Amino acid sequence: MAANKEGELSENEEKLVQKINENDGSFEEIQNLLKEKDVRVDCLDSTGMTPLQHAAFRGKKELCELLLAHGADVNSNYHDNSYTALMFATLSGSVEVTRLMLQAGANTHLVNSVNRTATQMAAFVGQHQCVSAINNFFPKSDLEYFTIPQGLEKEGKLPVQLVPSLLGLVNSVNLNPVKLSMYLRDHMELVHESYKVAKVLDLLVEKNMKARDTNDVMAVKLHYFATIIRLARTSHDDKNDNLEFWIKSLVRGRDGDGFPEKMERLIRQALKEFPYVESQLLQTLVRQISSVKIGDQPTALQTLIQGVNGQQFAMDDDTCTTCSEKDAIKKCSVCKYAQYCSQYCQKLHWSTHKKFCKKLAELHEKNEKLRIKMEEKQKAEEEKKKIEEDIKKTEEKMRKKLQEEKQKAEGEKTKIEEEIRKTEEELHKKMQDVKIAENCSENGVKLSDEVVKQNSDKTIPDKNSTQDGGKLNHSSEEEMKSSETQSS
Ligand SMILES: [Zn+2]
Ligand SMILES: [Zn+2]
Repeated sequence: MAANKEGELSENEEKLVQKINENDGSFEEIQNLLKEKDVRVDCLDSTGMTPLQHAAFRGKKELCELLLAHGADVNSNYHDNSYTALMFATLSGSVEVTRLMLQAGANTHLVNSVNRTATQMAAFVGQHQCVSAINNFFPKSDLEYFTIPQGLEKEGKLPVQLVPSLLGLVNSVNLNPVKLSMYLRDHMELVHESYKVAKVLDLLVEKNMKARDTNDVMAVKLHYFATIIRLARTSHDDKNDNLEFWIKSLVRGRDGDGFPEKMERLIRQALKEFPYVESQLLQTLVRQISSVKIGDQPTALQTLIQGVNGQQFAMDDDTCTTCSEKDAIKKCSVCKYAQYCSQYCQKLHWSTHKKFCKKLAELHEKNEKLRIKMEEKQKAEEEKKKIEEDIKKTEEKMRKKLQEEKQKAEGEKTKIEEEIRKTEEELHKKMQDVKIAENCSENGVKLSDEVVKQNSDKTIPDKNSTQDGGKLNHSSEEEMKSSETQSS
C-alpha cells in the first residue's frame, strides 16, 4: 500500500474515522466502508492517527478486530506524539483491547514523543490492569529475534519451528507445574530441544531485568518456566517416557496428609535460584514463602500466582485439585470434596486421593451435617427474630390504639364537661331569672300596696286632676303625631 500522508483523507476515509468515533456508529456501515476502493485501512488523519488507533482509543474491541482482519498495522507510529494503538488501548482502560493489540503483535518497547512506553503511560494514568496485561504478555517478536543468527552465529539460538509452542508456554496464565508439564508433554519438541529453549529463556530473563523498563514479573515467570523445562528433561532422560513419571511425581502427595511436597519444593527452589536478588518482587515472594512451613497455607504456588497475576487469581475455589485449571466441575463421587477439570486429572490424582478419600468423605459428611445444623440454627434464629418483630409490631399497634381511645375518651370527657358547664350556666341563669321574677313580684306587691295607700290618700278624685289627666292624654297624642310625621 502506498505510503500515507497525514490529513489526506478521501471522502470515505473521513466517513470511516467519523463512524468509528460515533457512539452509535453501525458496525455494518464501517464494514461496508472498508470495502470501498478509496479507503486505505491505515489512512492517517490530520494528527497522524489511523482508524485502528481511533478504535483502540474508544475501547471498541469488535472494530479493532475488524480493522486488524483488514490488515491494519498495529504498530503504525505516525501520530503527532508517537502514540501507538497499544498506547491508545491502555488510555481507553480496556484490558481486552490491550490484549488484542498485544496478540496482534504490538511492540511493547515503542516509546512516545516523551520517551514513555505503553506500560509507563498506562501506569501514569492509573490503568493498572492494562499494566498487568502488558507485563504478563510475551510478544512473539521477542522470540522471533532468537531465530535470527546474531554476530558470528551460523544459526539462530532458537529453531524457528519452536516459536509457536514456546510462545504458548510463556503466555500460560496457569502457573501450576502440573499444567505446565502437561503442556510440555503435548509439545515434546520443547523438551527435546530443552537446552536451547532454556538458554533462550535465561537470556530473556536477563533482558527483562536489564532493560531500561524492568519487568520482573515476566523475568520471574520465564525463569520459573526454564526451571520446569530443565527438570522435565532430566526426568525424560531418566525414564525415557513422555513425562508421565514426572507429572505423576508432581501430583503425588506425601503420606501424612497428601500434600504435594515435590511441587512445593520445586517452586521454592526455582524462586531461590532466581539470579537477580535485587528484584523487589523476588524479595517479597521469598520473604512470604520462607515464613510458611511446607504443607501450610498459602502454598508456594499460591504465593507465586498472587505475586505474578495479582490477588484475584490466587484463591479461586473452583480450581482443579490436580492442575489448578478454572471451572473444575467434576467432583469425586465418593467424598464430593476433591474437584477436577477432567477425568484425566482425577485419574492422575487418584493414587494420592484414594488414601484420603474415605477420610475426606467422613469430613464432608461432618461438614454437611454441620452445614445443615448451621442452616437450621440460622432458620430458627430468623424465625425468632420474625416473631419478636411481630410482637413488637402488635405492641406498637395496641399502644397506638390505646392512645387513640384515650384521646377519644378525653375528647368526650371535655365535651361532657362543656355540656355540664353549659347546663349549669343555663340553670344558673334560669335561677337568676327566677330570682329577678320573684323580686319583681315582691316589689309588685309592695308597689300595689303603696298605690293602694296613695289612692287612699286621695279617695275622692277632683275635677282638676281629671282635667290634668285629660291634658296629659292630649299632649301624648300630639307627641305620637309628631313622631309619625318625623318617621314619614
Ligand atoms: Zn485439571
Ligand atoms: Zn474422593
